[in-house]
Amino acid sequence: MNMSFTYDALPIRVRFGRGTVAEVATEVARLGAQRALVLTTPQQAGEGERIAALLGAVSAGVFPGAVMHTPVEVTEMALAALRESGADCVVSVGGGSTTGLGKALALRTGVKQLVIPTTYAGSEMTPILGETQDGRKTTLRSLNVLPEAVIYDVDLTVGLPAALSATSGVNAIAHAVEALYARDRNPVISLMAEDSIRSLSSALPILVHEPGNMEARGMALYGAWLAGCCLGAVGMALHHKLCHTLGGTFNLPHAETHTIVLSHAVAYNAPAAPEAMAAITRALGAPDAAQGIFDLVRALGAPRALADIGMPADGIERAADLAVESPYWNPRPITREAIRDLIARAHAGERPV
Ligand code: NAD
Repeated sequence: MNMSFTYDALPIRVRFGRGTVAEVATEVARLGAQRALVLTTPQQAGEGERIAALLGAVSAGVFPGAVMHTPVEVTEMALAALRESGADCVVSVGGGSTTGLGKALALRTGVKQLVIPTTYAGSEMTPILGETQDGRKTTLRSLNVLPEAVIYDVDLTVGLPAALSATSGVNAIAHAVEALYARDRNPVISLMAEDSIRSLSSALPILVHEPGNMEARGMALYGAWLAGCCLGAVGMALHHKLCHTLGGTFNLPHAETHTIVLSHAVAYNAPAAPEAMAAITRALGAPDAAQGIFDLVRALGAPRALADIGMPADGIERAADLAVESPYWNPRPITREAIRDLIARAHAGERPV
């Protein structure tokens, strides 16, 4: 066998199962922390209160102010709450937005992080933080923002609405897909990626019809964990860069944008990444990777056109300009004309070619 690779395993403790949130106080103690501030979005404040109650005397209260894109103003308010509470640990309960706030606090204070994810975004497994200030989003990669521990509790994902389950799940599939053709890919992460796509693509069609199917919920969360490992371990390419540009420029919702763009990005990269395409088709049980992803999204009833989630038609040329403005690595070289066509197809909701 002729292979050569580098693999940095990330030091995160993971507990996975049903009812695992009951162990939250034990896990905080295991981190050597004395007091924990629970973070949530305003929508999940009730869930935060429930977890604060489980923490008992260790609880330093709830900060229910997390919002999308980790704006620095919100982080500053949370910093004040953290200082006032005397907490030496945060328990982030929610999706990528809440995890982002916990990471922003860890970056500034070194506070320990225990994350309890309730979506499939995967941020809990990555040393990546995106923050916004004055409307500009910057992304950094540092072990200082990597959470120390994660509790995956399948029961906490039951309330994730069907539509959000679908788009958040495809967002996770996107991490696994791009890991398969990453420049710094390695065999361990590729195994995780393929199993992630297999688990999510079989669970999601069940979940959109039966959001309370616990077996499918477990499979989806397991796939999302694997996808988070992929995102944390190797570099992403065209799909993630394009979604970042489109989301930031036109203020499009994160998971929906990923859901629409993925099949088109895969079609674009297919000629340059045959092994990755073989893994994706095996995992999906479909003859073609890009068409298989498009068909999955259609079966989930998720959005397929950027036009439907708020991207203006006159933004296509601008998005194409921006997409080629700062070059990055991708398995297939990026040309403006081809990317423009890709964006136009995704805008109209057409099949990938
Ligand atoms: P989100 O965290 O913004 O959550 C979306 C909404 O769903 C929120 O109102 C939230 O309260 C609600 N919600 C979450 N779980 C729920 C549940 N189980 N039941 C009912 N409602 C629930 O969305 P997201 O897609 O998880 O995260 C998106 C953000 O995370 C983006 O800003 C993205 O850039 C970031 N992200 C970062 C990384 C990273 O590695 N740094 C990785 C993935 C995503």
